[in-house]
Amino acid sequence: MSNVQCPHCRGSLEVPAHLAGRAVVCPSCRQQFQVPPAAPVVETFAPSPASSVTNRRGSRHEATTSKLLLGILICNVLLVAMVASWEIRWQYFHYSVKQNLEEMNQKARAFRVNQDS
Ligand SMILES: [Zn+2]
Repeated sequence: MSNVQCPHCRGSLEVPAHLAGRAVVCPSCRQQFQVPPAAPVVETFAPSPASSVTNRRGSRHEATTSKLLLGILICNVLLVAMVASWEIRWQYFHYSVKQNLEEMNQKARAFRVNQDS
């Protein structure tokens, strides 16, 4: 059933769906007119595919945004790892230099002890 307005008397009447696009007689003014073909149904269904397309576009955009965020996160992790490894290397370098110096001092002391005796 769909609500149709009579073009002659402007009265609204309920018309069964199977009469869409067919000529009917208005019960109030007895005039014949054509029931509009199921256009309103098409109109109500038309926006849903369009909105689903925008939804798909939106989700695609979200996917790109999350990929970008993931990339930034990976970059940050790599940067932190690089800095951390550099720091460890630097500390190791300092440590080895210290050890070398101590070894040299010990050798020098030993040499001096040998010379003294
Ligand atoms: Zn009428």
